[in-house]
Amino acid sequence: MSTIRAFIAIDLPEAVRKRIASMGRELAQSGADVRWVREQNLHLTLKFLGNIEEDRLDSATRIVRDATARLRPFDMQLHGTGVLPGRKRPRVVYVGAGAPVELFQLAGMLGGALDPPEPPGRRFLPHITIGRVRSGKAVERLVKELDRHDDTHFGEFTVKEAVIYESVLGRNGPTYTVRANAPLGGAFSPKD
Ligand code: ATP
Ligand code: MG
Repeated sequence: MSTIRAFIAIDLPEAVRKRIASMGRELAQSGADVRWVREQNLHLTLKFLGNIEEDRLDSATRIVRDATARLRPFDMQLHGTGVLPGRKRPRVVYVGAGAPVELFQLAGMLGGALDPPEPPGRRFLPHITIGRVRSGKAVERLVKELDRHDDTHFGEFTVKEAVIYESVLGRNGPTYTVRANAPLGGAFSPKD
């Protein structure tokens, strides 16, 4: 029985990823101990499946496609920055995502239909993880630099699909591979 590490995400346009990565390079100057997400890996996570048996992938894909088919394409804006869980001991550095109701509907449908079940009371916080803080080194400086991007706009785009990814963890960070796509209702004409 083979298992894969899988998650469902929304891809970002290249121009948006470039803008975010360029801020990441600037923030790296703070000297903080952060593992920055590689430009090509930047994404918005809708649902983390964890390790699943490979033969569960088809049924998971069907569930995701049933959910996305119920929604029309919607616009999303990325702006501002923040840290999780809080400024005192940041673990994750992120870019904020404007929250159209469709995004919450999609995450809600996936969270309800796919394992593992979401812990009760947990709220979906739409965000793009851009870095993971490894130690307390220079974090105050990092957070201060990050604050200057409170009002930065990273772009606006139309979400047309969700993507089912496999993630292989490695020494030099994860490698994500597309396993399936799940279009939003009417997103692609038959000609596409
Ligand atoms: P690394 O773990 O090496 O830092 P990564 O986090 O990018 O790399 P994965 O751990 O495979 O790669 O995670 C894939 C996606 O799922 C990421 O968006 C990650 O934030 C999210 N994720 C990972 N683990 C969880 C979890 N336990 N709960 C919710 N989301 C998770
Ligand atoms: Mg991880």
